[in-house]
Amino acid sequence: MTWNELKETQEKIVKIITNSIRKQRLAHAYLFEGAKGTGKRKVALQLAKTFFCDEKEGVEACGTCSDCKRIESGNHPDVHIIQPDGQTIKIDQIRNLKKEFSYRGMESIRKFYIIEDAEKMTISAANGLLKFLEEPDGQSIAVLTTTEVHRILSTILSRTQILSFTPLTPLKLMETLEKNGVTRPITRLLGQLTNDIEEAYQLYHDDWIVQARSIMIQLVEEVSARPHQVLLTLQENWFPHFKEKNQLNLGLDLLLLWYRDVLRTLIATEDQLIFVDHTDKLERQALNSSQRKVSQQMAAILEAKRRLSANVNPQLLMEQLMMRLQEG
Ligand SMILES: [Zn+2]
Repeated sequence: MTWNELKETQEKIVKIITNSIRKQRLAHAYLFEGAKGTGKRKVALQLAKTFFCDEKEGVEACGTCSDCKRIESGNHPDVHIIQPDGQTIKIDQIRNLKKEFSYRGMESIRKFYIIEDAEKMTISAANGLLKFLEEPDGQSIAVLTTTEVHRILSTILSRTQILSFTPLTPLKLMETLEKNGVTRPITRLLGQLTNDIEEAYQLYHDDWIVQARSIMIQLVEEVSARPHQVLLTLQENWFPHFKEKNQLNLGLDLLLLWYRDVLRTLIATEDQLIFVDHTDKLERQALNSSQRKVSQQMAAILEAKRRLSANVNPQLLMEQLMMRLQEG
């Protein structure tokens, strides 16, 4: 990662930080606030690299020196990340951090620490940290991150520079994915499923979403053309891929998007299609269908989503859904 790359998704934040780097006026404590998946940790780690790297070119860390590499791999001795231990961040965790700091510089006198989900600090942990924030030594930087800024104590707010991370628009998310090598049909799909870039990459990881998509398309093809195959495909392909409840829920979302595309084909609004590379299949299904039939199929999928959240057995739920999709 470089600041230039991060600028694509968080332009304002990157401008503020890189300006401070240029002027050598970094704050000693930041609070990064914003929704999950807006890149708070990535920016924090980039800041850590910039802080430690002695081979910088302008504001950009070199990415190849031992400081950069160890930060990247998560084992730099002077970069600490604190995360909630269970439901809270406890005073002992802050005490340990202070202890680490008192061994002045494992390698240098610089120290960098990140406290994630800072709203989860207990009152005593927050007060413990406060003393720390009040006595900046000019050689350390703290980054607190939170998705719930309203739960952060005002005493902490007043001692940090607050930077607000904004969520990506679907368009921005798709552009970013495409720039990183994800193909257009898949970026269109991911843009419908999430606005969290991290989640999008997770779904893309190991081709999970690519396979999920082709299994779903196989299933809907069989529903309309080879109904005797449907149960077999459920057993052999569908359930082994959509194992967890959240995965099955995503599978149902995929089905819903497919039938919405059939509907869009029927009413000739193809410019909004998600499955742009399967227009032949969509047209074939649209030919044998009607608006009323597709609406009923979409309603059946929504009903299945409701039943899934009410913990109905997935096997039963999917088999019944397949029957309703065939009736349509
Ligand atoms: Zn470096």
